[in-house]
Formats: sequence, C-alpha cells, structure tokens
Amino acid sequence: MAPLYFRHPASIEHDTGAHPERAERIAFLESALAERDWLGWETRAAPQASEQQLLGIHTPEHVERVRAACAQSQPLDLDTPVVPASWDAALHAAGGACALVDALLGGAAPTGFAALRPPGHHAGPNRAMGFCLFSNVAVAARHAQAAHGVERVLVLDWDVHHGNGTQAAFYDSDAVLFVSLHRWPFYPGTGAAAETGGGAGAGCTLNLPQHAGSGATEWLAAIDRRALPAARAYAPQLILISAGFDAHRDDPLGGCLLDSSTFGAMATRVADLGAELDVPVGAVLEGGYDLAALTASAIATMRALAGEV
Ligand SMILES: [Zn+2]
Repeated sequence: MAPLYFRHPASIEHDTGAHPERAERIAFLESALAERDWLGWETRAAPQASEQQLLGIHTPEHVERVRAACAQSQPLDLDTPVVPASWDAALHAAGGACALVDALLGGAAPTGFAALRPPGHHAGPNRAMGFCLFSNVAVAARHAQAAHGVERVLVLDWDVHHGNGTQAAFYDSDAVLFVSLHRWPFYPGTGAAAETGGGAGAGCTLNLPQHAGSGATEWLAAIDRRALPAARAYAPQLILISAGFDAHRDDPLGGCLLDSSTFGAMATRVADLGAELDVPVGAVLEGGYDLAALTASAIATMRALAGEV
C-alpha cells in the first residue's frame, strides 16, 4: 500500500498571473516529483468537493459569492485574484483534502498529501482572503466528522502565516485541536498566544507565535515542548498538517529561516506521533512561494511522512 498524492490539472488552470501564489508552484513541484518517480507514491485525481462538504464549514452566501466572483474574474480581495477556472480549482482543492481523509480513514493509504491550489487556511466560513477561496483543511476535518464519525481531529498548521480561517471554523468547537506555528505579529494579524478557543472549544486552539528570523531551533522546540504534549493530551483520531512551506529561508514572503530539512524534521515528529497514537497522518498544501524551496520542502515532508527518514 503506497502513500497517496492527490492532484488535479485544475490546479494549473487557476491563473493568477504574476502573483506569488501561482500555477508554477504546482508545475515545478510535480515535474520534480515526476523525475523522482513520485517517490514511489501513487497519484490520484482529486475529486470536486460536494456542495454538502463545503457547507459543512462555509455559508451558502460564501459559496455563491466565490462562484459568482470566479465567473466574473472579480478578485475576492486585493490578494485574491480569480478567473473562471478558479471555481473548478477550488472545488478540487477542497475535494482533494476530503478524499485524503477518506483514504486515510478507510485504510486505503498509510499517509498522503493533497497538493492542490488555491490554498485554504485563510478562508473563513463567510470570507475568502489571502489567496484562499475555501478552507480546505477545515472542510476535510468536518468531512471526517460527518462521514466517518471522527470526534477529534488534530490540525497542525506550520504555514508561516496564521491559519485564521481554520481557527475561525472551529474556535468554539472541541472537534478540532488547532495548533498553529506562525510568524507573529504578521499577516493576517490573528494568532496571538492568548487566542485559545471559546465555549466548548476552550483550550482547543493553541497558537505558538514565532518571531521574524526564527529558525529550526525555535520551531522544533515549539513542536516538541508545546504541540506534541497538547496533541497527546487531546488524543486525536486523525492528524492533518496544513503544510505551507513559506517559513523556508528562501521564501520571498515569510521572513523566517527554516530549511527543507526542518520541514522533514517536523513531519517526522508528526509521523512518529501518528504511529504512537495509531492514527493516520495526512498533509494538505498551503503556501510556499519560492519554487525550489517549496519543492525541496514538500519532498522532505513526503519522505518523512512515508517513514523514509
Ligand atoms: Zn502562508
């Protein structure tokens, strides 16, 4: 049973021009993977998310707003351009994350990576922003609950930006433990350590802000001292990584100093946690805007998830 890599040509059709979150991110990564025989992973076509899956997180008004904006090539905010093909890309990006969950929980794969775009973690229940249309990981976590009866999902978000959309989707819920490492203060402004969840979700949001210029020492310490103990205490039944690679030192936007090996080291820790708890681990692509850094970091993550390092 090989790990699964979910992809779709629609990811390339979401044409954002010279924007950092651009089609070449996927094309460059996939040409490098193809040269390496996909690391032995099996590729699968990501299906479209269903309307029901989207509505597990998003309001009907949001879904219609995204649909209409794409049809008219009307940017959703200053950072979030769209074209008509973006609608299909967004459906496959969310659907790929859900299919990853189905594969992991159905025992069809030991691990997997949904490597699609647009990314998702800034999209809130009723708002697209920051290159994100639908909150792919949140939609997938809700799908795990609704379709598989999973009661506790750990989402570990290591994108350099705070995953405000994922946090908002589950802020008042104990169905997800949302753990985020991110540069702070930084875009989008949320992610202070004091944001810890509300209501039934009190204590189920763990923000681990990192300073500009932080690197492997700080980020791995946050994983070891804060994220892993919190995860063990929560006892998740599924682990999803919001895998952005923009904390890499070569990233043009991130301002942090991780190396591709740091992403591998973080992924090894998460894979080891999954093995320890006997729960599956999957990753969903978020940011990462230097093509070579994104590719090297994604490959390091995939190898670590597959237990190669
Ligand atoms: Zn980011």
